[in-house]
Amino acid sequence: MRLSLVLGLFAATFLHAQEKSTTSSYDYNAAFAPGFYNVTGNEYRSASGQPGPKYWQNRADYKLTASLNDQTGEIIGSEILTYSNNSPDALPFLWLHIDQNLFAKESRGNAVIPTSGSRNGARGEVFDGGHNIKSVKLIATAKGGKTTETPLAFTITDTRMQIKLPSHLKTGGKVSLKIDFSFVSPVYGSDRMGIQPTKNGKIFEVAQWFPRVCVYDDIRGWNTTPYLGAGEFYLEYGDFDMKITAPSNHIVVASGELLNPSEVYTAEQLQRWKQAGQSDKTVMIRSAAEVTAAASRPSGKPSLTWHFSIKNSRDVAWASSASFIVDAARINLPSGKKSLAISAYPQESDGQKAWGRSTEYTKACIEHYSQKWFEYPYPAATNVAGVVGGMEYPGIVFCEYTAREGGLWGVTDHEFGHTWFPMIVGSNERVFGWMDEGFNTFINELSTDAFNNGEYKQPAAPMSQIAMTTQNMEPVMSAPDNMKEAHVGWLVYEKPAAGLRMLRNEVLGPERFDYAFKTYIERWAFKHPQPEDFFHTMENVAGEDLAWFWRSWYVNKWPMDQAITKIMYKKNDPSKGVYITLENLGKMPAPVVMDIKYKAGSSERLKLPVEIWQRNASWTIRHASTSEIESITLNPAGTLPDINAANNVWTSGKGTLETDIDLSPYTGTFGNKQVPIKLVFSEKEDGLYIGIDSQEYRLEYKGGNTFAVPGGQGTQFTFDESRKSLELLESGQKIIFNREK
Ligand SMILES: [Zn+2]
Repeated sequence: MRLSLVLGLFAATFLHAQEKSTTSSYDYNAAFAPGFYNVTGNEYRSASGQPGPKYWQNRADYKLTASLNDQTGEIIGSEILTYSNNSPDALPFLWLHIDQNLFAKESRGNAVIPTSGSRNGARGEVFDGGHNIKSVKLIATAKGGKTTETPLAFTITDTRMQIKLPSHLKTGGKVSLKIDFSFVSPVYGSDRMGIQPTKNGKIFEVAQWFPRVCVYDDIRGWNTTPYLGAGEFYLEYGDFDMKITAPSNHIVVASGELLNPSEVYTAEQLQRWKQAGQSDKTVMIRSAAEVTAAASRPSGKPSLTWHFSIKNSRDVAWASSASFIVDAARINLPSGKKSLAISAYPQESDGQKAWGRSTEYTKACIEHYSQKWFEYPYPAATNVAGVVGGMEYPGIVFCEYTAREGGLWGVTDHEFGHTWFPMIVGSNERVFGWMDEGFNTFINELSTDAFNNGEYKQPAAPMSQIAMTTQNMEPVMSAPDNMKEAHVGWLVYEKPAAGLRMLRNEVLGPERFDYAFKTYIERWAFKHPQPEDFFHTMENVAGEDLAWFWRSWYVNKWPMDQAITKIMYKKNDPSKGVYITLENLGKMPAPVVMDIKYKAGSSERLKLPVEIWQRNASWTIRHASTSEIESITLNPAGTLPDINAANNVWTSGKGTLETDIDLSPYTGTFGNKQVPIKLVFSEKEDGLYIGIDSQEYRLEYKGGNTFAVPGGQGTQFTFDESRKSLELLESGQKIIFNREK
């Protein structure tokens, strides 16, 4: 046999054994590699995750008026947009979203919405949908105060409108535009707006209703991704003044504070309205019995104009109906400020098992989130019952009018939870849906646990179920429009939320996690964070490198599969301690949680840090057992995303129990004159080791006088009875080595 062959075999065998077992796909270099971040810190976004010293964002203030035709469903509106350019760039044009164009016949959204079974689009309604942009004018005020309006050219491409400015809008400059528009509301508007008939009149829920400026940022410049249905919104902050004119038998609710309640409510309702602002119990403002009474509306005018204001907001929505029951209660905020929880719903939704508790739910969840994360910033919070299953806007949400009990709590809590993501923390929903839905779903779990002593508390879905379900789906980091529609619920809501739960409970602990997550909200409140700003903030505040986690769970869809392969009692005596051997078979590393149950009846839980997998695919720990073990179970509470439970349990009598033998007779140095290497056997705490060329490998005892390289390709060492020689068996070849020392 040629010498080079033996050495070659050794190298191949040991390399293989060292890196991975035959069934593991784990690569610790890939999981823990440095260089996770594509972007390092710059003057706009710090490497610590906070906005940099030159962070900027543009601003959009709106004055809006609209009138509702409740017969045709047409909304006729006018907007004055004042846009401030805080970017370092001069802007020759502006881009605006005209999202009603999703419902135009030829829209891209309609082209990609399947013929049935989709939540998006208008469910096949044939109507004259889309934004009708009547005019765009530049408003200029001369020195003497004289205002002029100059028509501007604009180009509409699907749901986007480009407006060319007569001169570049310079850094620090402002421009005011007046836009007149109208549209006919779809009955079902992509589950975000629409019209619900009820016995006392239609409920109009109006959103995506006025041209809204696209975000211009330091990442992509203009964010002009079209509205196709799945991807939500990315909008600038500003102050809104809104006047809605509706038939006088209607009640209108909207984002923000109602500025003229005395003009739109009756004297009695006004009294109740004021009383609600002082009351922690829900106060009825217009009861079910009063809805059909003409006296429950101010008389004498065919229509009324409702005036609302909301500041530091990214959008506004409203609802209008003759059918509304209205009630309200005070919201108490940590700073001592008050807000007002309001509910508007039809008779069909009335009752203590349904919307009769909506205001209680609204108040409770907003008070919880304000205490826990960041104070609610708006003067009112209105929950509206209607056709929309559940949709969030600043200061107002739309929830399904048939929702009841825990279902109504869940949807109310979720939609108001969106106040924090994306209304306060204004991430780019259209591209990174998980940063609003996922984060919100996560905080909803804590809110639901807390509400009314856990009235609607539910056990969290096991991580392994989420991991198995999403294994063959897209990565979480995909844009919602880049996912199968059926996957959106899993990838945008469940999986990212479960990831945060794991990070909180199994990696950082609630105290470190909550401080980091709260810091993220505070840093990016009313700003536009990117995923890296979130990752950097969590790592910097919690003081932990989490690249392995982001990489596995968000960027990729790596499976996690830990296995327990065998145990061995020291000197075969359970009272002296136990060696437990684990393997990581999937691509995702994770901390280890294991329960050890003793035959004597006691049990204990062990936790190991993720670092055990930083340079190992197989790892043996020594634990101070005191008596014989009945079973060991990995991931006992299902808090880790292990996709294969079958290899998570070691049971006495079934699992491999390695025998600890007296190793001293096997130690020593063995050689063969024709082979230029020595085999050095030594005994360590946990077994017999072989040293070759200054590398050491632990051997597995196979019975008799035979030891093997674990996970290798059958390389074995069999000593003779006197341990004066041994036979090396590798790839069917045998070589004899003789004891030298
Ligand atoms: Zn949501």
